[in-house]
Amino acid sequence: MKREPQRTCIGCRRVRARVQLIRLVRRADGVVAIDRSGAAPGRGAYVCAERECVERGLKRGRLARAFRGAAEASADLAALFRQGGGPGK
Ligand SMILES: [Zn+2]
Repeated sequence: MKREPQRTCIGCRRVRARVQLIRLVRRADGVVAIDRSGAAPGRGAYVCAERECVERGLKRGRLARAFRGAAEASADLAALFRQGGGPGK
């Protein structure tokens, strides 16, 4: 049996395989962006590619808690939040 890395969604708190989640990364300036490569440096957090999770995960308190400090959603992330869609492939 293959062991897959597991991560917790900051929206619903479910633990899922990392490949099923969108990785968010906080840059040095405190802005949280979508990490499409999955390997950007910086503190990461994960959220399901589902509207509810993205909406919940992007609430101010959630981001700050996930990143243990001030964190603000990037325009990229805010756009995803508005569309309510997945990140696409
Ligand atoms: Zn979720």
